[in-house]
Amino acid sequence: MSGVTLTDQFGRSIEYLRISVTDRCNFRCTYCMPLAGLPWLPKAEILSYEEIVAIVAQLAPLGLRRIRLTGGEPTIRPQLVSLVQQLRAVPGVEDISLSTNGVRLPELAQPLRDAGLDRINMSADSLRADRIVAIARKSLAFDPVVSLKAAEAAGLSPIKINVVVLRGVNDDEVGDFARLTRDHPWHVRFIELMPVGDMRELTWEHVVPTAEILDRLSSVDVLVPDDGPSRGNGPAAYYRYAGAPGTVGVITPMTHTYCGTCNRVRLTADGRLRTCLFGDHEVNLRDALRAGRPLEPLFREALAGKPKEHALLQMQVGGLRALSQVGG
Ligand code: SAM
Ligand code: SF4
Repeated sequence: MSGVTLTDQFGRSIEYLRISVTDRCNFRCTYCMPLAGLPWLPKAEILSYEEIVAIVAQLAPLGLRRIRLTGGEPTIRPQLVSLVQQLRAVPGVEDISLSTNGVRLPELAQPLRDAGLDRINMSADSLRADRIVAIARKSLAFDPVVSLKAAEAAGLSPIKINVVVLRGVNDDEVGDFARLTRDHPWHVRFIELMPVGDMRELTWEHVVPTAEILDRLSSVDVLVPDDGPSRGNGPAAYYRYAGAPGTVGVITPMTHTYCGTCNRVRLTADGRLRTCLFGDHEVNLRDALRAGRPLEPLFREALAGKPKEHALLQMQVGGLRALSQVGG
């Protein structure tokens, strides 16, 4: 290995890898996945945990510091705890986080923490049981607040909650979510819906612009700009209500761009490195790894193709895959 950091043609150094460990999910969120599911990848095409660790071990000497496990729903892949344990042992890896719908956190939060997981982002689009079922389209007897408390009790920190705001579906719960931050050290981030994948037509009508979300947040109490949680802030703007232990934030992929400071790349479940969530540019690491070829030239090839900004900004939304397929 050269010891040189991985920098793309626009001077952005890459230290953050999002790893999709599965394309499958126990939910079928209306904006993410069709009710019938997607054509799932055959098992032989999915990276084994050993292969994921081998890729991370080759990227770490080039500057990779932070990892997020995502999917699909990562907690439905068996033995996720063992993957976290193996990633923790890779020298140079400083931070491991997990994106999850939270269903399995009551039993998994503590073992994951013990294995070396640092923190979580939990998706929660409603606090009401009937609405959770209506959005997720699976009835799994799940209470998001119980899962969040399990994560907190296990020592995972910071705890971030991602709420996709859907007009006419859950936009009246913005205040309820925001009020959680007054009682708990949780960081609630409201995400502007992205019309992607097969659900484009369905989702456009539900987009709630961030300005409107901020209005609803201001009607709860005065919003004071804040630095947000200490680690991994990424593309969110944060605020805090006076005296609150948690913060509220907004993520605005549709109306603003973060591309200039983007420091992340993605590894799909079938071992392709994607340098932009919305681009089509992918480099196949899996086949090279299975053939015993070195990966560094492929990392560099991938970064050379990292676009300056994402296709959504140019409104070229035609070819986008669902976020569950690219590890959103
Ligand atoms: N299953 C995990 C979860 O739900 O957190 C991880 C994967 S999920 C694809 C990652 C994130 O993408 C979730 O926070 C989800 O809400 C978000 N997401 C999926 N489709 C989206 C869309 N069309 N617009 C905005 N966010 C979306
Ligand atoms: Fe599953 Fe997450 Fe997509 Fe919902 S957003 S369907 S939980 S992958």
